Amino acid sequence: MTERHLNPEDVDLYALGALDGQDKASLEAHVQSCAECRRELREAQRLTMLLGLSEAPLAPPPSVKQALMQRVRADRAEPVQQVLREQPRRTPWRLRLSLASAFAALLLALAVSRLWKLDHLRQQEIAALQGQLRSAQAQVSAEAATIRTVNAVVGAPDTVQIALLQQPTGPPGQAHILFNARMGVVIYSGEVAPAPADRSYQLWLVPSSGAPVSAGLVAANQSNQAVVVHLAPGLAAKAFAVTLEPHGGMPQPTGPKVLVGALNG
Ligand SMILES: [Zn+2]
Repeated sequence: MTERHLNPEDVDLYALGALDGQDKASLEAHVQSCAECRRELREAQRLTMLLGLSEAPLAPPPSVKQALMQRVRADRAEPVQQVLREQPRRTPWRLRLSLASAFAALLLALAVSRLWKLDHLRQQEIAALQGQLRSAQAQVSAEAATIRTVNAVVGAPDTVQIALLQQPTGPPGQAHILFNARMGVVIYSGEVAPAPADRSYQLWLVPSSGAPVSAGLVAANQSNQAVVVHLAPGLAAKAFAVTLEPHGGMPQPTGPKVLVGALNG
């Protein structure tokens, strides 16, 4: 039988936890025997982890999954989607992020349609719900902006990836950074043993010359939720480090280095 690879959309839906029944079973069966699709799936799962999209609050009820599936299938028939799908497979991030964005927008649209049905509520209650909707919309815009930033950084040829490793006398941990000097964007994800209650972990860009630049505080566990930091564009970094600082952080590093990673070359 001729090998037919999985649709990228199905891989995304599976990674988002939105694939059901026969579709889910055949995807799982296919990745068992296909290394290429297994690799695609791992990448999609890493991305949903990175963006925190696989967490419980976004897990849709069955009706939403149904609507999403219909939407994705409808999209497949549209010329625009065809053009996008004909792009080389080496640029799947952009498509995947668009899908994540569409997913968030769909959830918002469902929330809006529910609000319209609540006409039996008194004016005051409706106002409160409209407030919630506005903040949900603001959250979606903020997430969309973050997704656009991540998308741009991941897709840029001048983005570098740096592994931050634990130090011999420090707590166990590991983190990864995507850094684009031209854009001044740092994307951090990783995990380190929890800090003492009166201490904070702080991320630093160590420039080629001059004093370290704070990239803000990071939580001990940022493995499911990447931190996106905007610094001044054009900073030439030679390393990144996480240090243990007094609660709330410091203008310059004072504490021990916990995780360190140098840029190659
Ligand atoms: Zn395959």
